[in-house]
Amino acid sequence: MTEHTSARILVVEDEADIAALVAYQLAHAGYQVRTASTGREALRALQPDPPDLVVLDLMLPEVSGIDVLRTLRTRKETEGTPVIVLTARKDEEDRLRGFELGADDYIAKPFSPRELVLRVNAVLRRSAPTGPGIGRRRTLRAGPLVVDVEANRVAVDRGEVDLTPKEFQLLVCLLERRGRTQSRSALLEAVWDTTADIETRTVDMHVGRLRAKLGPAAELIETVRGFGYRFRPED
Ligand code: CA
Repeated sequence: MTEHTSARILVVEDEADIAALVAYQLAHAGYQVRTASTGREALRALQPDPPDLVVLDLMLPEVSGIDVLRTLRTRKETEGTPVIVLTARKDEEDRLRGFELGADDYIAKPFSPRELVLRVNAVLRRSAPTGPGIGRRRTLRAGPLVVDVEANRVAVDRGEVDLTPKEFQLLVCLLERRGRTQSRSALLEAVWDTTADIETRTVDMHVGRLRAKLGPAAELIETVRGFGYRFRPED
C-alpha cells in the first residue's frame, strides 16, 4: 500500500449521527469508507475482504466493540488490521482493555472529526510496510520499533535489525507483556522454556545484546531494579 489516501476504512458506530459525520470526514480526506452500525454487522463486513483500518466504537449494543476487537484479532485475515477505538472519555477501563487486545490507538468522545482524520493518517503511516517481508500480518509496534512476529523481522526507524532467535523471542515476549514487569525467571521460562540449569544471568546478557542492537529503541526495554525487566508502557 503506497498511497494511503485510497485506503479502505470500516467505521463501526451505532449512533447514526456520529457514524455519518466520521464517514463524511474520512471520505472527504480521500478514504473509501464503509459503515457498520452493530458489532454483528462489523464482523460480517470484516471478511472475506478486510479493510485497511477499522474505526471501532466500543459502546455497541449486543456484540460489544471489545468482542469485535477480540474476534478480529483471532482471525487470520484481520489479526494485523490497524484499529482505532472510540471510547467515552471517562472509561479508562475500556481503553486499557482495547490496548490489551491490540488496538493501535484510541480517541475519547467527544472528539473533533479533524483529529480523527489525523489519527487515521498516522496509524496507517505507521502500519505501512517498512521493508520486504514486513507486511500487515501480526505486527507489534512501539515508538520507532516494528516487529513482524510471523516473519521474524524487526525494524527500528525503518532499518532492519538482525536478531538471534533468542533475542527475537525475548523482545516479542517483553513487548507482548508490555508495561508488566517480568522477573528473570519468568523470562527464562517463557523464552528458554526452563526454570533451572541456566543462570538468570543469561537473561541479563541477552537483554544487553538486544538493547545494543535496538539502538534508538533500546530505552523501550527498562530495567526494574530488584525485579527484572519490562517493556515501557504505552504513554
Ligand atoms: Ca455507540
